[in-house]
Amino acid sequence: MSNNLETIVKLNGVHKIYKMGDEKIVALDNVNLDLKKGKIYCLLGVSGSGKSTLLNIIAGLEKPTKGEIVFKGKSIEKMSEKKLAIFRQRYIGFIFQSYNLMPTLTALENTTLPLIFRRTPKKIRTEKAVDMLKAVGLAKRYKHKPSQLSGGQQQRVSIARAFVNQPEIVFADEPTGNLDTKTTEEMMNLICGLAKKHNQTMILVTHNLELSVYCDEIIYIRDGKIEKTEDVSASKITFQQEVSVNE
Ligand code: ADP
Ligand code: MG
Repeated sequence: MSNNLETIVKLNGVHKIYKMGDEKIVALDNVNLDLKKGKIYCLLGVSGSGKSTLLNIIAGLEKPTKGEIVFKGKSIEKMSEKKLAIFRQRYIGFIFQSYNLMPTLTALENTTLPLIFRRTPKKIRTEKAVDMLKAVGLAKRYKHKPSQLSGGQQQRVSIARAFVNQPEIVFADEPTGNLDTKTTEEMMNLICGLAKKHNQTMILVTHNLELSVYCDEIIYIRDGKIEKTEDVSASKITFQQEVSVNE
């Protein structure tokens, strides 16, 4: 069935080798992938298996040693840094384990950042950011700075920031690594619910098999190699349609 879906990213024979003195570390070893629009992927592997390297390469943050990354029909591995920056702003949203919010900016200002980079007029970017903060359940926290928010609330701001641009693809690298079980459930529902609603592709990076219940497909990575991919869409849980949070 997934074969009918549009391909958003394709990796052909991707290798990444780091040189450390005389030692060579093979972080990615002949990775071939075909990622489809609107699907939620779980990139699953133990620490050191190459998950973050793979994500960085798809996002154009690192260059492969060998191989090709085709994003919406365009090879990105040869693009200039300037073009790559524009490409990321246009197509990609990021959610990090450590939130990566700007400490001196409010929740609203943090959420508008990607729109500033895209030169969206101020009125529109404020409207969009307000809508997004409402969607993540932070309607009463616009003026709070990160230090005035809980971990879960900070992650909500970073989710709002990742989605405010309506990116084609959202990368979440261990997004719930610092959160308790209940908040993890809320965050996963939120992230996956938003991605599904707007038919966005998502790659969730984790070492936690339990999180795969939120995904359509698991990509198993070990020692830089894709071991197998597994369609788990049939056993996926349904997401809450509306966000309910106690603010
Ligand atoms: P994961 O995210 O799955 O924990 P990484 O992609 O961070 O794994 O790392 C994969 C392998 O590549 C590891 O062995 C790691 O030590 C190595 N590695 C990652 N980044 C670098 C780097 N900048 N320089 C050298 N080795 C690196
Ligand atoms: Mg990692």
